[in-house]
Amino acid sequence: KGGGFKASPGQTALQEGHIWGSMRRTVLILGSGLLLFVAFWNSVTWHLQRFWGASGYFWQAQWERLLSTYEGKEWILFITDSGATLVPSLFFWCFNGLLLVVDTTGKPNFISRYRIQAGKNEPVDPVKLRQSTRTVLFNQFMISLPMIVFLYPFLKWWGDPCRRELPTFHWFLLELVIFTLTEEVLFYYSHRLLHHPAFYKKIHKKHHEWTAPIGVISLYAHPIEHVASNMLPTILGPLVMGSHLSSITTWFSLALIATTISHCGYHLPFLPSPEFHDYHHLKFNQCYGVLGVLDHLHGTDTVFKQTKAYERHTLLLGFTPLSESIPDSLKKM
Ligand SMILES: [Zn+2]
Ligand SMILES: [Zn+2]
Repeated sequence: KGGGFKASPGQTALQEGHIWGSMRRTVLILGSGLLLFVAFWNSVTWHLQRFWGASGYFWQAQWERLLSTYEGKEWILFITDSGATLVPSLFFWCFNGLLLVVDTTGKPNFISRYRIQAGKNEPVDPVKLRQSTRTVLFNQFMISLPMIVFLYPFLKWWGDPCRRELPTFHWFLLELVIFTLTEEVLFYYSHRLLHHPAFYKKIHKKHHEWTAPIGVISLYAHPIEHVASNMLPTILGPLVMGSHLSSITTWFSLALIATTISHCGYHLPFLPSPEFHDYHHLKFNQCYGVLGVLDHLHGTDTVFKQTKAYERHTLLLGFTPLSESIPDSLKKM
């Protein structure tokens, strides 16, 4: 670790001290955050559980019907339903299909007017898009899918994902929080490692060919990156928790939609802001994480915080594009 740095021993020690200090702060803040969260947990979920009580039986019945159809062949249900296959991929490609229409035609204008990087991908280069899409399909069906198949026996042994009883809503929400935090930590550090000169050129540069990203590019990566930085951070949570297939499928679908939004290149109203990761693609050495918590703690967002993009990094609750209400430069005043 740190072998490639050309710093004096003193500087290196200082740097390492800084990193350890940051990590300790990270653990402290995440820990106390978790405690606070648990404290508020019961009151919040009590209300949600009342809602769930009514619809819970419905979903349990649906699940049991599905199970009886696949009795003795639950692995087929698991393979087709989760991971790189049917349900999450369907969400991914439906959403990306719509985005691709805007990317390739620039229409409809009521979507393309929300473009973050003006003048880029207007329209998107068809050759580059075709090549990238091929890589995305390869990653999904030649890497993610076999990984899921390979993991099934272990999952079955650890906590059968196709068990009869669906998780309670309470439990499912808790799982989502754990999955999200696991992903943030693993993605942040693996992604930062991929930016180390030892790995960047051979592995991560591919993903960064797109300085103005579009939705499908979220899965455009070197195979090693796809396993270490896309799959592992997403799958480790469900793996450790011995999650139910319904939790796994929902989480994978949410994760794919979230990463598509963060790469889509449009800051659309009422959707999470993609400014953070868009800025990472533009500048390379800022904003490594998903939520931004670890970037804040490690100070890898300090330049970003001085930009107009940071001012625009918020949930848009109106219809005026943020590029108009908070324009980049005010030179022509
Ligand atoms: Zn990216
Ligand atoms: Zn990167």
